[in-house]
Amino acid sequence: MKNIFLISILLLSGLTGVRAQDTLPGTAANLKTWCYFLASDDMKGRKNGSLEMKAAAEYIASVFQEAGLKPFSTETGYFQEYTTTRNNAEIAERNVIGMLEGSDSLLKNEWIILSAHFDHIGIRQPVNGDSIYNGADDNASGTATLMALAKTIGAMPVMPKRSILFAAFSGEEMGMRGSRWFVAHPLIPLDQVKLNLNFEMEGESATLGKNKYLLTGDIFTDFDDLLDSYNKNTNWECVDVYQTTPKVFQASDNAAFAVIHEGEKTILNIPAFTLVTTDNLQVIHKVTDEAQNMDYENMASLVAYAAGLIQFLAADPLAIHWDQEAFDKFYMKL
Ligand SMILES: [Zn+2]
Repeated sequence: MKNIFLISILLLSGLTGVRAQDTLPGTAANLKTWCYFLASDDMKGRKNGSLEMKAAAEYIASVFQEAGLKPFSTETGYFQEYTTTRNNAEIAERNVIGMLEGSDSLLKNEWIILSAHFDHIGIRQPVNGDSIYNGADDNASGTATLMALAKTIGAMPVMPKRSILFAAFSGEEMGMRGSRWFVAHPLIPLDQVKLNLNFEMEGESATLGKNKYLLTGDIFTDFDDLLDSYNKNTNWECVDVYQTTPKVFQASDNAAFAVIHEGEKTILNIPAFTLVTTDNLQVIHKVTDEAQNMDYENMASLVAYAAGLIQFLAADPLAIHWDQEAFDKFYMKL
């Protein structure tokens, strides 16, 4: 029975081919494996500067390699090394960065950056006997989504028109140290970056419901109109229910790309948003944020959707309008 079932699936997929909206076989299983690894007790909450973060970075790099991503550096491969300080002590950390070259001879000089942070807050005060802050939704889920996107887009018969840079950032929980380092040492010309889509908290589907996400900062921009027009032909929806969106816009690595300071003025440099599938902020930085609570089927569906979306965006003019006045009203200098 099993074999006949498998053969008919193979035949079917061979006949139909893989479309942008299809889930690459094994995506949900991969997402589950990666989240269980990153958020396992053995990883001790992925504290910046720890041995466990070294292991996590190598794990992500190995998946990037499997996906066919090019390492960004001839010297340090997939790793962008940096140092930062915590309590006056210096710690070493790494971002993990790979890229796929665009398929259009002109547009490939422009970039879309996909990102997710893979650090968390380590071991802290025990709650009900548990002291490991596993950080499954925050943000093993976003990291696994980024890895699955690398595999899905890497397997497309034709690459997206613009080049895609995949960045797994460390240091986010210390104040976006990794993404800020990247922006200060960008490796690619930042004026050629058309968009940053950042992935955080993609594992919880009970609050908003399945196949729904929020875009932080959507009220500053018309980017959500572009998403809405694309989404009409998909089974995903960008919902606008998150009243604190303006504030959480600055709560993740997208802010490192979005905001530059010019004297007293804050201006948007790169349109940069975080895609989130929950507005339940109660789980953040709790010992109960664990891998068994993630909805891997919903995540796999998100990956299939986002891979198609990114291919679409990579060919779009991306003339994104930004409402500077609305932004200035909410922006808080960090
Ligand atoms: Zn986070």
